[in-house]
Amino acid sequence: MTTTTGVLSGKHRRALDSTILDDAVATQDTVTQLIAAIRKVRRSVREAVRVTLSTASDEGGKPVIDWSDTTARDSLVTGLVHDAEAVLAATEQAHLSKEAADAIGLLALVSGQDVEPGEKEGSWRIARKVAKDRVISTVDRDARHGHKSRAVRVDGFKAHLVLEPDTGIVTAALITAANTPDGPTGVGLMAAQSKPDQSVPVEVLADSAYGSGATREALRGHGHLLVIKPMPTHPAVRGGFVRDDFTVDHDARTVTCPAGHLARLSAGGVAKFTPHCRGCPLRPRCSKAAIRSFSVRPHDAELVAAREAWRDEEVRAAYRQQRHRLRIRRAPLLPARPESDRPIRGPFRAGRVEDRSEHSVRLGRKRHRTHS
Ligand code: SF4
Repeated sequence: MTTTTGVLSGKHRRALDSTILDDAVATQDTVTQLIAAIRKVRRSVREAVRVTLSTASDEGGKPVIDWSDTTARDSLVTGLVHDAEAVLAATEQAHLSKEAADAIGLLALVSGQDVEPGEKEGSWRIARKVAKDRVISTVDRDARHGHKSRAVRVDGFKAHLVLEPDTGIVTAALITAANTPDGPTGVGLMAAQSKPDQSVPVEVLADSAYGSGATREALRGHGHLLVIKPMPTHPAVRGGFVRDDFTVDHDARTVTCPAGHLARLSAGGVAKFTPHCRGCPLRPRCSKAAIRSFSVRPHDAELVAAREAWRDEEVRAAYRQQRHRLRIRRAPLLPARPESDRPIRGPFRAGRVEDRSEHSVRLGRKRHRTHS
């Protein structure tokens, strides 16, 4: 519809954005997940019902124990894992429907993801480390732990959008698990939607979540112009030198440090400033080690160029203005968390790409409601 109505003709800017849809799912702890998964299998596989459970029950609900008592907790987890193993063993020769196979798959997953062997042989306890890509609910298996920031963890889903910032028209959308990274998803969304005009490059506006070298390279490879906030660089010593205080000559494969000393890059992309660091007056700002080791990471030149461009006040001002406009445009659909603490529930489901470029979906005044 955008093509036929021409509503976006002459609009060659797109904004990539994402929002965590937390509270859309009830996160379950390990014990609840194990009990729920065992029940699910016993509801759908006859052979599993014949197993005599030692700890789990078909009525569901968490057993009453003193949760602060480690021995009681570990004993409960051990009992549940043994029940899960017995149920899984009983289903090995069973003829399975798709629903039953799914239930068995889920039980096998939850009985392995959160537990680890205890000190006594045959005992189990809740794992100290959270499994990568952990299933957090047997009710909504696509939901995952995600991060709003380094410190703030949330559970649920993430909405990824491509918007035309002047009009607020969403040209593509996708709901994923909350732990899906923004960069590759944004690249996929930009590639999937129809281009406004093949002869004019699209300017892509995005925050630093889309600022990795791989994402930049992929977007640039599709012929887009990038106005993406760079990811911050971190010094080896607090308040000390960062990557851009060193000069890398990629062709000559050399690095010059802030004190002006030159070192050769190894085949693996590492330069060592032996023997210059000993006695160097700049070392407190450079390295905690006796010798500074400098690594050139993938996409280094791309990232350096992005940070260099970002030093231009005009570029930053234009970015701020567009981001402000974008926040206003997307607010009716996906209000930012600080503005609303209410759960976000809506028609979207995880994994479904909503390519709206052909439907010209304009964000309406009501949340989650779109008008064509
Ligand atoms: S500590 Fe080493 S790498 Fe750092 S500025 Fe001094 S000589 Fe250069």
